[in-house]
Amino acid sequence: MHRHDSSTEVLTQAVVRYAVERMRMDPPPLDKTRPAAELRAMAGKTVTAKGIGGLEALRIFSDVLGPASISIDHPRFLSFVPAAPTEAAILFDLVVGASSIYGGSWLEGGGAVFAENEALRYITNLVGFPESAGGVFVTGGTAGNLSALLAARFRWRHRAEGAHDRTRGLLLSCSGAHSSVGSAARAIDADVEWVPADGHGRLWGSALRETLTGLAADDRERLFAVVATAGTTNAGVIDDLAGVAEVCAEFDVWLHVDGAYGGAGLAAPSVRDRYQGIEHADSFIVDPHKWLFAPFDCCALVYRDPTVGRAAHTQHAEYLDVLHGGDGLDDSEWNPSDFAHHLSRRARGLPFWFSLATYGTEAYRDAIETTLDVARQGARLIDDATYLELIMEPELSVLLFRRTGWGPADYQVWSDRLLDEGRAFVTPTSWNGEVLLRLCIINPLTSVDDIRMIVDSLG
Ligand SMILES: *Cc1c(COP(=O)(O)O)cnc(C)c1O
Repeated sequence: MHRHDSSTEVLTQAVVRYAVERMRMDPPPLDKTRPAAELRAMAGKTVTAKGIGGLEALRIFSDVLGPASISIDHPRFLSFVPAAPTEAAILFDLVVGASSIYGGSWLEGGGAVFAENEALRYITNLVGFPESAGGVFVTGGTAGNLSALLAARFRWRHRAEGAHDRTRGLLLSCSGAHSSVGSAARAIDADVEWVPADGHGRLWGSALRETLTGLAADDRERLFAVVATAGTTNAGVIDDLAGVAEVCAEFDVWLHVDGAYGGAGLAAPSVRDRYQGIEHADSFIVDPHKWLFAPFDCCALVYRDPTVGRAAHTQHAEYLDVLHGGDGLDDSEWNPSDFAHHLSRRARGLPFWFSLATYGTEAYRDAIETTLDVARQGARLIDDATYLELIMEPELSVLLFRRTGWGPADYQVWSDRLLDEGRAFVTPTSWNGEVLLRLCIINPLTSVDDIRMIVDSLG
């Protein structure tokens, strides 16, 4: 099974044909998951002592398992945060798999790490970080937030020179922040103080200052980070980054900005000014697998000062010390493993790099602007529908609205019906305790007509 022989050739043709046919679908069928018992009956036993053969396994995947997985790149997949990988990014994902690259160290994967760092440079430039900034691609925003907060806590303890080695840390965030922030705090056993948000779920510098100055003296000692959000997942609003950064500077606290969804808007001139102050962050994440058109799984985690990330995360072991000859920050000694809570890693930034290299950054700017424009036009369609009420003007590409007279069950029935009919995938969300609808538009193939179809189906 490790030799490339004639049976591999047959399988290669079949697998590549399948991949190419999937890529040619425009749009792909939306598809829909099924209960495990049904899948078991339809797929039969696949993992056996003698193997069922690649062609049969592929047949089961293409007939049964693939269609039981929703196509997240369908232009009317508007739930959660969709994904819309570019053609070049998808193709290069195949290459990354075929190339057996270890993406953890320069010694092993220097060429790949170089390319990943080129893609990270695009992001640090968008943020306005200094040339010395850098980081690594991790699996997702959840992993990125955790690793950034570990670095923040490391710096706080390091500066305290032992005084806080056993002190439980405290971080400040806001109710609009993603659930992964609370999850990271639980993972590292830190406390979170939630600063009250404004009516749109936004964190303001003034509210942060009030909460911070209201902390007891020993709590203020425990404070190691503030987490702001550049594009909340539920409503797509950007915190008052300039105000928050000012408070963080005044109190000398690490500022982490979570732009997992919304960070991509930095590339769009029509909304760029809303991110003012982001350049003062100590760490920042954005998920290219969301609005930067890369395949799963890909989150860029970047530090203003990567030496802190490296000091917090580098693993030392007898068999690893050969990797750490120099100071590890020279371009040629960049070990991606050192900048997050991981060791072995796929060079998962390569599909994103290949796509950036292929199309150029202007194509990214234009594609993001296209989605913003569809969101703005979609807001007008919602405004014009007498039976719908827009909750707020979209700041980025999320539309939140209610269908007057509907309760949670009505939304669910409607949502299920659209998916059953293969027309759209739109799940309800809640806002201030009320169930309502949310569309998240990140796919440049999502058109105003797609939004109109959804609006009409609610009438
Ligand atoms: C999606 C999201 C996350 C989590 O990212 P994953 O890649 O799903 O782990 C974190 N923060 C924000 C703001 C997000 O939108």
